[in-house]
Amino acid sequence: MTAARFQRLRQVLECRQPDLTIVTDNVHKSRNLSAIVRTADAAGIGKMYCAMPDKDYKAFRGTAMGSHSWVSVQRKPDVSAALIPLKEQGYQVLATHLASDSVDFREADYTRPTVILLGAEKLGVSVAGCELADMHITIPMRGMVQSFNVSVAAGIILAEAERQRQLAGLYANRRLDDKTYYRTLFEWAQPKLSEYCRENGLAYPALDDDGELVDGLAWQHAVRDDRAAKFDW
Ligand code: SAM
Repeated sequence: MTAARFQRLRQVLECRQPDLTIVTDNVHKSRNLSAIVRTADAAGIGKMYCAMPDKDYKAFRGTAMGSHSWVSVQRKPDVSAALIPLKEQGYQVLATHLASDSVDFREADYTRPTVILLGAEKLGVSVAGCELADMHITIPMRGMVQSFNVSVAAGIILAEAERQRQLAGLYANRRLDDKTYYRTLFEWAQPKLSEYCRENGLAYPALDDDGELVDGLAWQHAVRDDRAAKFDW
């Protein structure tokens, strides 16, 4: 880990938006999900949810690379299980869906705690998803085709969310709480060591400005008598 790389990890975490997320409603194509995760990362989303069957999720995880290390993706068995806890925490749910009461996506206020609900490739947002939505939003379509690819729609909407949040100063100061920030920073900077700590019930040791253990030798000695010898330093 170079100091520059560690600094980059910190900068990314300092932009994370704990009150902006995505729920996918049975989006099942791995390449679409991967593109959505990548776009979420770019907008500062650190956690998102996929409502989908377990077997499809396992297939997606099997092909997942890159940005998946930086965004926590949680599977939910259905859209209600994903949305209800978020609504209880005060999130507004914006369903990307063409309905008689749909509004242009640019009219929504993305500076509020917000879930963007994306629908399945063929069927769109489910009835349950639409019913749980606070607002239905659409991106205007001026051509012959009636809809975007779901990952493209995610990109367009998240660009607007990012624009509004940037204007509101929401990327200017760290918004993650200390616990989440330092835990995630350690896991990103020291993935193998964090895995070892979790497996062995050890607290994460402190890191210096280069992302290395403050006193690595002392820490190794402290855990040596435990199971540290098994760890591949
Ligand atoms: N036949 C489906 C329907 O009626 O919703 C089309 C689904 S579209 C290919 C897949 C998803 O992309 C949608 O559920 C929505 O999340 C998003 N999407 C595509 N075009 C959109 C648009 N113009 N406005 C908002 N969301 C859109």
